[in-house]
Amino acid sequence: MAEAYDVVVIGAGTGGYVAAIRAAQLGLKVAVVEKQKALGGTCLLWGCIPTKALLEHAHALKVIRSAKEWGVSFGSVEGAGASGLGIDMVQVQARKDRIVAGLARGVEFLFKKHKVDWIKGTARLTGQGRVEVHDGDRQTLKATREIIVATGSAARGAPGIVLDRRRIITSDEAIGLREVPKSLAVLGSGAVGVEFASMFSRFGSQVTLFELLPRLVPAEDEQVSAELERSFRKQGVTCHTGARVTSAVASSDGVDVRATLADGQTALLRVEYLLVATGRGPVTENLGVDEVGLALDKGFITVDELYRTNVPGVSAIGDVITRGSAPHPQLAHVSSAEGVVAAERIAGTPTRPINYDQVPGCTYCDPEIGSVGLTEHEARQRGYDVHVGTFPFGVLGRAKIAGDTEGLVKIVADKKYDEVLGVHMIGPRATELVAEATLALRLESTVEELIRTIHAHPTMAEAVGEAARAVYGSPIHA
Ligand code: FAD
Repeated sequence: MAEAYDVVVIGAGTGGYVAAIRAAQLGLKVAVVEKQKALGGTCLLWGCIPTKALLEHAHALKVIRSAKEWGVSFGSVEGAGASGLGIDMVQVQARKDRIVAGLARGVEFLFKKHKVDWIKGTARLTGQGRVEVHDGDRQTLKATREIIVATGSAARGAPGIVLDRRRIITSDEAIGLREVPKSLAVLGSGAVGVEFASMFSRFGSQVTLFELLPRLVPAEDEQVSAELERSFRKQGVTCHTGARVTSAVASSDGVDVRATLADGQTALLRVEYLLVATGRGPVTENLGVDEVGLALDKGFITVDELYRTNVPGVSAIGDVITRGSAPHPQLAHVSSAEGVVAAERIAGTPTRPINYDQVPGCTYCDPEIGSVGLTEHEARQRGYDVHVGTFPFGVLGRAKIAGDTEGLVKIVADKKYDEVLGVHMIGPRATELVAEATLALRLESTVEELIRTIHAHPTMAEAVGEAARAVYGSPIHA
């Protein structure tokens, strides 16, 4: 007989495990089917956490490289310089693996605490609220209230480029590299592409970045893109925007990359690795979506604003879903927020749809990017009469103290009601500073309210207050 649960969640990524815990908190009996050997999904096992761990190493190396400036010396030689420093990738990987394993055990602990059952294996929908588990704890589960599909996404290739996963790789392989490549080409300049470009450039690789669109990080505000490209070029990252990689041929020790550049010239490049970072597709293979009749759009599961699919009793959240015409951000915190809403709706407690215009996005390249809300272009496209203010980090005392003076904060606001529509930052601690901006949007703050909010001194956050003042042309320190 099938084991009965109120809710059966398929996938223990940041969407699935958070949905499970929230449902359990609300008194429901919950099982999660996960096929990996550890809980946490993409974000924890081969996404957010391991990449940020490696980027932190890159940051440490950057600081140590300028040890002389900081007055820090090494070894027995008084005042020894920091030249000749390198990075031991085996040690780096070991530290990263410890962090990942510790956090994955943390999710397991939370499951036990909330009495969520982890069913090990691969799940398949068989209809009538049933989930068949194979490749592990073989059994059939019955969801009396709802099944939540949270199977996430997987890296996909690019047209004409064959991933061999040895030389032509995705982030899944790049995250585990035990050497610093002498040379690396990165295809795609979204968050994943620029984070790896930044990290390996800091580690000492010669990095070439190819982006099909006319600017780096194309989803960000144009000023942020321009600032990143300027900084990357200064760091020695070769950036080709408006460039199409037309072929990549792998051999045992490298890849021959051919690209058509923006000016029509052909570039030929020999690199040790080509990292393809052109996006992620939904994971629905062998899930039984056709058998139960789930509606898909380009392979993603179609949901409504409370994550109901077209099949009664089946919800879907996270990277695997689409909300129709509006693009769905593939972000860990979005999948978690969706999991909470889905669980609350299933439990019958009050909940409300997510406002996707208020989702913060963070990119942990150097300099960091943090943004929330509409870009200036998007705001104008939606018909707003906008006013904007920008303020550079470079003049702030805190930025000078940290030796991190690149970048800016930009505020996009509606002229009529003074409402803050978007905040876009590139620079030191931008991924933390965006929290203030997110709250400002959530509370429908005006620029005036941001100006009247006292920002402590000396902090990087002063750039937010000053950017608000800049909207009215009156920053104090610029
Ligand atoms: P996933 O995390 O992909 O989890 C899906 C789970 O379902 C997996 O564990 C999988 O094994 C399991 N599964 C799939 N099919 C089945 C099945 N049939 N049966 C049983 N189990 C199954 N986002 C951020 O917000 N910040 C970041 O800094 C960030 N960095 C990233 C860096 C990289 C390199 C990558 C690749 C992604 C990054 N992301 C980041 C995106 C983030 O990881 C995803 O948005 C998030 O993991 C999506 O969560 P999810 O629960 O929808 O799916």
